[in-house]
Amino acid sequence: MVCNGPASFAARMHPSWPTTWQRLLSVLHHPSARMALVLGILLAMVFSASTVYLARQQTVAEYQEYANNLADYAVQRTERVREHTLRVLQTLHDNHSPDPCGANNITLMRRLSYGSDLIEDVGYVQGDTLLCSSIGHLGEGVAVGPVDVASPSGAQLRLRVQLPFSQDARYLLSTVRGYTVIIRADWSQDVQGWLPDAQAAVGVFHPEVGKPLFAYGEPDAALLQRLLSSAPAQAARVAHDSIVAVRPTAFGYAGFATIALSELEARWHTRALQMLPVGLAIGALLSALVWGVARRQTSLPWLIRSGLRHGEMFMLYQPVVELATGRWVGLEALVRWRRPDGTLVAPDVFIPVAERSGLITSLTRWVVGQVLRDARVLLVAHPHWHISVNFSAEDVRDATFVPYLQEQLRAHGVAAHQLVGEVTERVCMDATLARERLQALRRLGLPIAIDDFGTGYSSLAYLTQLPLDLLKIDKAFVAPIGTEAATSQVIEHIISMAQSLGLRMVAEGVETAEQAQWLQARGVQLAQGWLFAKPMTIAQVEQQLRAQQQKR
Ligand code: C2E
Ligand code: CA
Ligand code: CA
Repeated sequence: MVCNGPASFAARMHPSWPTTWQRLLSVLHHPSARMALVLGILLAMVFSASTVYLARQQTVAEYQEYANNLADYAVQRTERVREHTLRVLQTLHDNHSPDPCGANNITLMRRLSYGSDLIEDVGYVQGDTLLCSSIGHLGEGVAVGPVDVASPSGAQLRLRVQLPFSQDARYLLSTVRGYTVIIRADWSQDVQGWLPDAQAAVGVFHPEVGKPLFAYGEPDAALLQRLLSSAPAQAARVAHDSIVAVRPTAFGYAGFATIALSELEARWHTRALQMLPVGLAIGALLSALVWGVARRQTSLPWLIRSGLRHGEMFMLYQPVVELATGRWVGLEALVRWRRPDGTLVAPDVFIPVAERSGLITSLTRWVVGQVLRDARVLLVAHPHWHISVNFSAEDVRDATFVPYLQEQLRAHGVAAHQLVGEVTERVCMDATLARERLQALRRLGLPIAIDDFGTGYSSLAYLTQLPLDLLKIDKAFVAPIGTEAATSQVIEHIISMAQSLGLRMVAEGVETAEQAQWLQARGVQLAQGWLFAKPMTIAQVEQQLRAQQQKR
């Protein structure tokens, strides 16, 4: 037994099934798919832009935290220095030495300065001259310049003082009644391990004199002064071209830390570049999701399902004529699909899709219900009439189909012999199952017609195995009647085959009187075709029937 396989079927229904790329492009014809694409691209852009923004925000936030910590450190360190300085000065004053630069006092100075890592030296200043220090007497003395800040309690501060024993360094001199603590103003060694990997300055600043007491790096004095005068306590923020944190204290000075933004830019660019693939991936994923949903919603199976749900399908009926009398003896039900935009989709296009996507059983059930609703009155009035419905292979295979038909016939009060099931040779995919199912349909009382006969490759042997009542001669064999075409020979074989099996015949696609006469002369009993009537609505069928009855 030879059956026509799925490949030949697909080829017949879709001469050129489009490639994936063509399908993708064809989806774009749909406005909602175009919208989805635009939305997808927008999403990808938004996500990429947000990753760039996020990268910058994160980088800035990270270095703001850094600046806050540094400014706090500067205040704490200065506080320790201040306390230590006060202790040292107190010790010297408590010694009550009559000669501040005497040997006793110098020994004490030495002990005090050696024992501390916070201070550089201890000495005695008279006027603007350092007379002695832990080193001993300084001869004529060393000029230390004028006092920068004098507190009401009598403490004097000299900022950024240069001393001969270390030309490059700058010192802070803190003096109370002559006794002076000398502290390194440069913090390079002290903050080494604390610094961020970007250009930074950290220290304490005296807004009154507009200079740092201690500092690492070169702070922007004008900026610090402006910030300190505008709002006292501040968390780090972006000001001008740096991140700046300032911490005012009760002692007049303020801790500060600045980090240049210029170097951070390169850093957040790198971070953005690292994060971008994630942003793009999320964007792409979302677009793919949107695209997928849009594709699904514009795919033919989805549209068919939605069409069924929204009542876009309707039925037309083509009369079946008795060739001997010209009388209508039945109808073939043919489904139509009108899309919301008014376009009609041919069943040749959507039936194969419904078959492949598993929607056909729902469609057939809808067709059966609609046909019985439409034609119930007509069938009851004409008990010898029949209506044929096209069943697909999947319907025949479906074990619940027979009970469904039984229920529908009962519900509409239509006799089973009035509903003809048309099946094509495709039903033969599984011959044993097909035979069983067709027999079940017949037991229910449905006559079975083999449709499009001759277009597949079934043999006579196969035909004899199936329980059939009618054979529909495909229009491909009717068209060449009366011509010299090779196919015109085939129809004679089909007719004799049907006759030998005792099947009634319906010729399809009869368009000329000559074809009708030829068929009738060969013993074909029934015919459908434009010669008699085109498919029409049930109302038109009823109207034409009334007109025919009036003529008689
Ligand atoms: P089919 O079952 O062979 O239906 C006959 C087709 O021939 C119908 O096409 C009909 O309109 C067309 N036709 C009728 N008379 C003439 C004629 O004189 N000349 C020509 N050239 N054509 C004629 P239609 O309605 O476009 O249906 C096409 C096919 O779609 C059907 O072929 C059938 O295979 C399928 N189909 C239609 N309705 C249903 C349905 O409700 N269920 C299923 N499963 N398939 C259906
Ligand atoms: Ca048919
Ligand atoms: Ca047919």
